[in-house]
Amino acid sequence: MKKLLTAIAGAVLAAGAMAAYPDKPITIVVPFAAGGPTDKVARDLAVALAKPLNNATVIIENVGGAGGTLGAAKVSKASPDGYTLLLHHIGMATSPALYRKMPYDTLTDFEYLGMVNDVPMTLVGRSTLPANNMAELRTWVNANKGKINLANAGLGAASHLCGLLFQQAMAVDMTTVPYKGTAPAMTDLLGGQVDLMCDQTTNTTGQIESKKIKAFAVTTTKRLSTPALKDLPTLDESGIKGFNVTIWHGLYAPKGTPKAVQEQLNQALRTALKDADLNKKFENLGAVTVTDSRLNQADHKKFVETEIGKWGPVIKAAGQYAD
Ligand code: ASP
Repeated sequence: MKKLLTAIAGAVLAAGAMAAYPDKPITIVVPFAAGGPTDKVARDLAVALAKPLNNATVIIENVGGAGGTLGAAKVSKASPDGYTLLLHHIGMATSPALYRKMPYDTLTDFEYLGMVNDVPMTLVGRSTLPANNMAELRTWVNANKGKINLANAGLGAASHLCGLLFQQAMAVDMTTVPYKGTAPAMTDLLGGQVDLMCDQTTNTTGQIESKKIKAFAVTTTKRLSTPALKDLPTLDESGIKGFNVTIWHGLYAPKGTPKAVQEQLNQALRTALKDADLNKKFENLGAVTVTDSRLNQADHKKFVETEIGKWGPVIKAAGQYAD
């Protein structure tokens, strides 16, 4: 009897604790520098996510470095209580192939809460580059072998993956310059310290619109409809056949986060993604909100698993590793 009462009391207490979630600020770790594309997605999402979470305070913490693996590692080791989350991109799937030693296991150290959006990339260059289109860029690249700097956000970053595929397609090795995110990389591209970068439209659209950088192509197989980007050719139609990179973003919690909290976060994410303001912000930057089955936790995980299988051989074939 005593045991039963204790069990009931425990269950009531647990339910009470659950019902109270969230009763303190929630931190979303962004594994890249502030002001960059992943950060933008996270900050916009945080505003929309707060409402269905009883107007909780949602804080963004930027933990950049090592292509996103430092921030992801931090979340994998955080207390699994729903107060530390991770907003990460395709790097969840590319890092395992790029690093010989990973500080976490992508598939077993996280709870998958649902996908957020898909974001195309753009191939951009400093405004002083003599090339103005893909054909001229190809000529310039071939004439400047050994002298070209390509910025990225470190091994495992989306910009690294895209830059890697671009170099392979051009059959030219470039000097890669790693940053803690593409926000600081963009500063150097604007200043002309680096020549080229491949980055999400969420970071490049404004700069392209104001003509502070040159845009050469988009990385999707179809042209984009975003006004500032609609005239850009695809890399595929520019002769790099089959080039197709889209950067997806997803939300994660440390392994062991209570199921009820996970479900609450998944529901909040679904509500947030229907928010008109959020959709307008995403749309203006070329991002497409996820509405398909990848909003289901199990399908989100399955999708990442498929992406690991897809990118692993491509990266291995390129012989790119870090310890
Ligand atoms: N766009 C970056 C990347 O290359 C990440 C970032 O700074 O958000 O992965």
